Amino acid sequence: MTERTAATDTIAAISTPPGRGGIGIVRLSGTDSVSIAAQLVRLRHPLMPAHVRLADVIAYSETGAELEVIDEALVTYFDAPNSYTSEDVVEIAAHGSPVILDFLLRRALALGARLADPGEFTQRAFLSGRLDLTQAEAVRDLIEAQTLTQARQAASQMGGALSRRVMPVKHALVELIALLEAGIDFAEDDVDVAPQVEIARRIDALKPPLTALEASFARGRLVHYGLTLAIVGRPNAGKSSLFNRLVERDRAIVTASPGTTRDLVTERISLDGIPLELVDTAGLREGLEEAEQMGIRRSREALAEADLVLIVLDATEPINEEERRLLAATDSRPALIAVNKSDLIANDRAASDLYAKELLDVPALATSALTGEGIEELRAQILRLATGGAAAETGLLTNLRQHQAVTDTLNALADASRANASSIPHEMILLDLYRALWALDSLTGQTTSDDILNLIFSTFCIGK
Ligand code: GDP
Repeated sequence: MTERTAATDTIAAISTPPGRGGIGIVRLSGTDSVSIAAQLVRLRHPLMPAHVRLADVIAYSETGAELEVIDEALVTYFDAPNSYTSEDVVEIAAHGSPVILDFLLRRALALGARLADPGEFTQRAFLSGRLDLTQAEAVRDLIEAQTLTQARQAASQMGGALSRRVMPVKHALVELIALLEAGIDFAEDDVDVAPQVEIARRIDALKPPLTALEASFARGRLVHYGLTLAIVGRPNAGKSSLFNRLVERDRAIVTASPGTTRDLVTERISLDGIPLELVDTAGLREGLEEAEQMGIRRSREALAEADLVLIVLDATEPINEEERRLLAATDSRPALIAVNKSDLIANDRAASDLYAKELLDVPALATSALTGEGIEELRAQILRLATGGAAAETGLLTNLRQHQAVTDTLNALADASRANASSIPHEMILLDLYRALWALDSLTGQTTSDDILNLIFSTFCIGK
């Protein structure tokens, strides 16, 4: 690991989003924050830590002469180390006019501040040890959350839930390493402080909590990244109608992307807080030549990229050969069948029963996009399919980087177990254990290289 020294230059950025708003904030962090702020605005009273001060924003002529007051601002000072970054931080809350904020930022830069890189405030909080890497990542995730469930997960991680879960494992690992190191020191005196079985027991004890943590990624990933659900079936089965039914109430996330080059319509919804991207094979209308075949082909394309599959059948039509092939093409992917247009068939013929025999394994339910029958149940079943029964827990792994760190730790421990079993010298077992410790520490950022850190923080927004 390269030596890191806390940066001391003063950074500045507009911390509120671009555009107009009631309030806009320019934030400064670093040793010169207070002196820059004092020249940047005309404070009515001197700055005091954790106090808000009223100030005038003054325009200047090209020669530097004071012109008139152009805004009033509230200025808050957080003294080191009691601030977000652990440095002196000053926040200037002016009116949310891009012109005013731009003026303030330019002037702050002219007074000696440097424009902050994306995520640099949070990076400083990390470098000062106020946040670990999982907490810093959670700050980004919280800002980017699109559902309340995502926000809650991020907030829990920001509060250190993941780090707390890892801590006992790390302590046990460090103890084991210390024991072996001691064993090496005493080797010449023939004192065997750590017999093979004891080492094996201790290594094995580290594994279950890590395995559970590794498995928590199933839920964490679900909440963080969401899933894609392809709605497939023959033309006219009612795919678009069901798509609209599902979207109409749950249109919590409005990021409709235009149809892709393959005529797939996608829409993001939030199903019980889990982001779900619906992919409909639209763009296909009746009367089109070979419509049936094209529909199936597009369904297959949608299928290829989906995590979950909703197969829509027409309750009034028998299953045809193409549909059978489509069902076969879902492979082992989690799938659900909606036997649609249930309103068109007699009550005593439960549509799902009609198909149940034929389509073993895949759960089927009757729906009517027209009347709304079965739509709530469809939502519930999709959710069940999505979560796969993964329980909500705290301290989840939420991204691939974290997951890799835990996997690497487990792999190194497996190597240590093997080395121990084959009575290899402790020095060699220690190499594996140190590798495990290194991997585990990378989770919280203690052993993460600067290149990786810079990469992570560059995904943050400016001003955070
Ligand atoms: P898609 O080609 O699979 O997307 O099918 P659409 O959603 O465009 O529906 C085809 C036709 O079936 C339209 O005329 C819909 O109004 C009708 N339709 C869809 N779902 C139902 C339903 O549940 N009951 C009835 N009676 N008609 C439906």
